[in-house]
Amino acid sequence: MMHYSGYYPLDVVNGPGVRVSLFVSGCSHACEGCYNRSTWSFKAGQPFDLLAEERLMADLADQRVVRQGLSLSGGDPLHPRNLPSVLRLAARVRRELPDKDIWCWTGYRLEELNAEQQQLLPLLDVLIDGRFEQRLKTNRLAWRGSSNQRLLYRTEFGTQLACGLHHHSE
Ligand code: SF4
Repeated sequence: MMHYSGYYPLDVVNGPGVRVSLFVSGCSHACEGCYNRSTWSFKAGQPFDLLAEERLMADLADQRVVRQGLSLSGGDPLHPRNLPSVLRLAARVRRELPDKDIWCWTGYRLEELNAEQQQLLPLLDVLIDGRFEQRLKTNRLAWRGSSNQRLLYRTEFGTQLACGLHHHSE
Protein backbone atom coordinates (compact mmCIF):
# COMPACT_ATOMS: atom_id res chain seq x y z
CA MET A 1 0.00 0.00 0.00
CA MET A 2 1.19 3.51 -0.79
CA HIS A 3 2.49 5.49 2.19
CA TYR A 4 2.43 9.23 2.75
CA SER A 5 4.84 11.43 4.69
CA GLY A 6 2.84 14.61 4.89
CA TYR A 7 -0.76 15.70 4.78
CA TYR A 8 -1.91 19.32 4.89
CA PRO A 9 -5.68 19.84 4.81
CA LEU A 10 -5.30 23.64 4.62
CA ASP A 11 -2.28 24.48 2.49
CA VAL A 12 -1.58 27.87 0.92
CA VAL A 13 2.01 27.15 -0.16
CA ASN A 14 1.94 24.25 -2.64
CA GLY A 15 -0.02 25.63 -5.58
CA PRO A 16 -2.57 28.42 -5.92
CA GLY A 17 -5.33 29.17 -3.44
CA VAL A 18 -6.25 27.11 -0.43
CA ARG A 19 -5.50 23.48 -1.07
CA VAL A 20 -5.33 19.98 0.32
CA SER A 21 -1.80 18.62 -0.11
CA LEU A 22 -0.61 15.05 0.03
CA PHE A 23 3.11 14.20 0.11
CA VAL A 24 3.43 10.56 -0.86
CA SER A 25 6.38 8.43 0.26
CA GLY A 26 8.91 6.90 -2.09
CA CYS A 27 11.24 8.43 -4.65
CA SER A 28 14.16 6.98 -6.58
CA HIS A 29 15.53 10.13 -8.23
CA ALA A 30 18.00 10.87 -5.42
CA CYS A 31 18.46 14.50 -6.45
CA GLU A 32 21.45 16.15 -4.84
CA GLY A 33 20.16 18.78 -2.42
CA CYS A 34 16.70 17.21 -2.18
CA TYR A 35 14.58 19.19 0.29
CA ASN A 36 12.64 16.10 1.25
CA ARG A 37 15.04 13.19 1.79
CA SER A 38 12.85 11.73 4.48
CA THR A 39 10.30 10.87 1.78
CA TRP A 40 12.65 8.68 -0.29
CA SER A 41 11.62 5.50 1.49
CA PHE A 42 8.42 3.87 0.27
CA LYS A 43 7.65 2.92 3.85
CA ALA A 44 8.11 6.39 5.34
CA GLY A 45 5.16 7.91 7.15
CA GLN A 46 1.85 6.14 7.26
CA PRO A 47 -0.16 3.92 4.93
CA PHE A 48 -2.54 5.82 2.67
CA ASP A 49 -5.45 3.63 3.67
CA LEU A 50 -9.17 4.08 3.11
CA LEU A 51 -9.49 6.20 6.25
CA ALA A 52 -6.82 8.61 5.00
CA GLU A 53 -8.46 8.72 1.58
CA GLU A 54 -11.89 9.44 3.05
CA ARG A 55 -10.45 12.20 5.22
CA LEU A 56 -8.78 13.77 2.19
CA MET A 57 -12.02 13.66 0.19
CA ALA A 58 -13.98 15.18 3.08
CA ASP A 59 -11.41 17.97 3.53
CA LEU A 60 -11.46 18.71 -0.20
CA ALA A 61 -15.27 18.91 -0.15
CA ASP A 62 -15.38 20.98 3.06
CA GLN A 63 -17.59 24.02 2.49
CA ARG A 64 -16.45 25.99 5.55
CA VAL A 65 -13.14 26.79 3.88
CA VAL A 66 -13.48 26.21 0.16
CA ARG A 67 -10.45 24.42 -1.30
CA GLN A 68 -9.36 25.23 -4.82
CA GLY A 69 -7.90 21.80 -5.33
CA LEU A 70 -5.54 18.97 -4.51
CA SER A 71 -1.73 19.03 -4.65
CA LEU A 72 0.13 15.74 -5.02
CA SER A 73 3.81 15.81 -4.20
CA GLY A 74 6.37 13.70 -2.39
CA GLY A 75 8.39 11.65 -2.79
CA ASP A 76 7.23 10.99 -6.32
CA PRO A 77 3.54 10.39 -7.03
CA LEU A 78 4.51 9.05 -10.46
CA HIS A 79 6.88 6.36 -9.25
CA PRO A 80 5.48 3.05 -10.55
CA ARG A 81 4.95 1.85 -6.97
CA ASN A 82 2.80 4.87 -6.12
CA LEU A 83 1.09 5.25 -9.46
CA PRO A 84 -1.88 2.84 -8.98
CA SER A 85 -2.98 4.59 -5.77
CA VAL A 86 -2.41 8.05 -7.22
CA LEU A 87 -4.36 7.15 -10.37
CA ARG A 88 -7.24 5.86 -8.30
CA LEU A 89 -7.27 8.92 -6.06
CA ALA A 90 -7.08 11.41 -8.93
CA ALA A 91 -9.87 9.61 -10.80
CA ARG A 92 -12.03 9.69 -7.69
CA VAL A 93 -11.46 13.43 -7.19
CA ARG A 94 -12.32 14.08 -10.85
CA ARG A 95 -15.47 11.98 -10.56
CA GLU A 96 -16.77 13.18 -7.19
CA LEU A 97 -15.39 16.73 -7.01
CA PRO A 98 -15.07 17.88 -10.62
CA ASP A 99 -14.77 21.56 -9.67
CA LYS A 100 -11.43 20.96 -7.86
CA ASP A 101 -8.15 21.24 -9.72
CA ILE A 102 -5.31 18.73 -9.36
CA TRP A 103 -1.63 19.71 -9.39
CA CYS A 104 1.13 17.11 -9.34
CA TRP A 105 4.90 17.33 -8.83
CA THR A 106 7.20 14.66 -10.24
CA GLY A 107 10.92 14.11 -10.71
CA TYR A 108 10.34 12.56 -14.14
CA ARG A 109 10.26 14.70 -17.24
CA LEU A 110 7.08 14.62 -19.30
CA GLU A 111 8.96 13.00 -22.20
CA GLU A 112 10.16 10.16 -19.95
CA LEU A 113 6.74 9.03 -18.80
CA ASN A 114 5.78 5.50 -19.80
CA ALA A 115 2.31 4.46 -20.94
CA GLU A 116 1.11 3.76 -17.39
CA GLN A 117 2.38 7.07 -16.05
CA GLN A 118 0.77 8.90 -18.97
CA GLN A 119 -2.61 7.65 -17.80
CA LEU A 120 -2.45 10.26 -15.04
CA LEU A 121 -2.04 13.20 -17.40
CA PRO A 122 -5.68 13.62 -18.48
CA LEU A 123 -6.64 13.70 -14.80
CA LEU A 124 -4.29 16.58 -13.97
CA ASP A 125 -4.61 20.31 -14.48
CA VAL A 126 -0.94 21.02 -13.90
CA LEU A 127 2.19 18.87 -13.84
CA ILE A 128 5.47 20.27 -12.54
CA ASP A 129 8.12 18.02 -13.98
CA GLY A 130 11.81 17.24 -13.65
CA ARG A 131 14.36 16.45 -10.98
CA PHE A 132 15.60 19.09 -8.61
CA GLU A 133 18.94 20.31 -10.02
CA GLN A 134 21.01 21.96 -7.33
CA ARG A 135 23.09 23.96 -9.83
CA LEU A 136 19.89 25.38 -11.34
CA LYS A 137 18.33 26.17 -7.98
CA THR A 138 16.14 29.27 -8.02
CA ASN A 139 13.49 30.96 -5.95
CA ARG A 140 12.31 33.09 -8.87
CA LEU A 141 9.97 30.50 -10.36
CA ALA A 142 6.69 29.91 -8.63
CA TRP A 143 6.23 26.37 -7.30
CA ARG A 144 9.53 25.10 -8.69
CA GLY A 145 12.88 24.57 -7.00
CA SER A 146 15.15 24.67 -10.04
CA SER A 147 14.90 26.32 -13.43
CA ASN A 148 14.85 23.04 -15.41
CA GLN A 149 11.47 22.21 -13.91
CA ARG A 150 8.45 23.13 -16.02
CA LEU A 151 4.91 24.05 -15.22
CA LEU A 152 2.85 22.07 -17.74
CA TYR A 153 -0.79 22.91 -18.23
CA ARG A 154 -3.66 20.90 -19.52
CA THR A 155 -4.94 23.00 -22.37
CA GLU A 156 -8.51 24.08 -22.78
CA PHE A 157 -8.69 22.24 -26.06
CA GLY A 158 -7.16 18.90 -25.30
CA THR A 159 -6.80 16.37 -22.58
CA GLN A 160 -3.01 16.10 -22.81
CA LEU A 161 -0.67 18.37 -20.95
CA ALA A 162 1.25 20.77 -23.12
CA CYS A 163 4.41 22.68 -22.38
CA GLY A 164 3.06 25.80 -20.71
CA LEU A 165 4.39 29.16 -21.64
CA HIS A 166 2.11 30.66 -19.03
CA HIS A 167 4.61 30.80 -16.20
CA HIS A 168 3.36 32.39 -13.05
CA SER A 169 5.00 35.39 -11.43
CA GLU A 170 8.27 35.32 -13.30
S1 SF4 B 1 12.37 14.11 -7.17
FE1 SF4 B 1 11.88 15.45 -5.42
S2 SF4 B 1 11.66 14.06 -3.64
FE2 SF4 B 1 12.70 12.92 -5.28
S3 SF4 B 1 14.89 13.16 -4.81
FE3 SF4 B 1 14.33 14.76 -6.29
S4 SF4 B 1 13.81 16.56 -5.05
FE4 SF4 B 1 13.78 14.77 -3.69
